Amino acid sequence: MQKIYIASIFLIGLFLTACQQGDPNTNIDEKEQTTQQEQQADQSVPKKETAKTEEQDNASDGSNDNESAKADDSTNEEDKQKEIDKHIAKVEKSTGLHVVDNPESPEVYVNKQRTLPEGYVPPNLVVPDVSHYSSEGSPKRQLQKVAADALEQLFAEADQQGIGLVAVSGYRSYERQKQIYESAVANKGQEHADKFSARPGTSEHQTGLAMDVASATETAATLLEQSFKQTDAGAWLAENAHNFGFIIRYPEGKNEITGYNYEPWHIRYVGKEIATEIYNKDITLEEYFGYDY
Ligand SMILES: [Zn+2]
Repeated sequence: MQKIYIASIFLIGLFLTACQQGDPNTNIDEKEQTTQQEQQADQSVPKKETAKTEEQDNASDGSNDNESAKADDSTNEEDKQKEIDKHIAKVEKSTGLHVVDNPESPEVYVNKQRTLPEGYVPPNLVVPDVSHYSSEGSPKRQLQKVAADALEQLFAEADQQGIGLVAVSGYRSYERQKQIYESAVANKGQEHADKFSARPGTSEHQTGLAMDVASATETAATLLEQSFKQTDAGAWLAENAHNFGFIIRYPEGKNEITGYNYEPWHIRYVGKEIATEIYNKDITLEEYFGYDY
């Protein structure tokens, strides 16, 4: 009886010793295995998603009706926002306006929150070889070279299709805009002036990348009027400007976003790629860049 008792204790002792030696090793093995699996899983998820997104993009020709592509889109939006945030040189203390640091770029964007540097004059101002409404020698005829070249192509194509366009007003200097704005403040008060006139530095015309366009046949009746959209010239411009790198900068129903009422006559050069994306998605330049300010 005593022998059995001692043998039992011995066996239990052996068993416990084995357990103590075995358990920690087993736990470490399990942990290592789990960690490796997690790492593999962590690495494999993005790879799979990337591959899936690429396949879907190729299959759908870039249309964005799936979640992976949407996720990519929002990342792109964030990237764009970061990109544009870089283009603020400083915030003006007196006005709270953000001063852009890329005034010469076709991708510059100014609005009622974002201004060109004080006194900015664009480089390479030239007069495009198109039909003009303003008198010979007027500074209004000018555009930055890159926009002037694109405007010539746009007008030539319109002409080929039997559409007559006239260039009304392009470049406007900081000084000229200052006069217009200050005269509006003096005559109608600050609030009214801010609604209908751009503060100096915030007008797109000062970039040398914007042109107001009119119909050659219905000029007087629809000059700088929303009814321009109903003319053949206005309708053609809305559908074709992007092919030459221009956007309708202040589209209909977007004044809450752009800060301006619908201006079917005001086209802005941004380059073909951005213009085509903005046209296809039916968005504004503010929305393209992220619309924070
Ligand atoms: Zn304009």
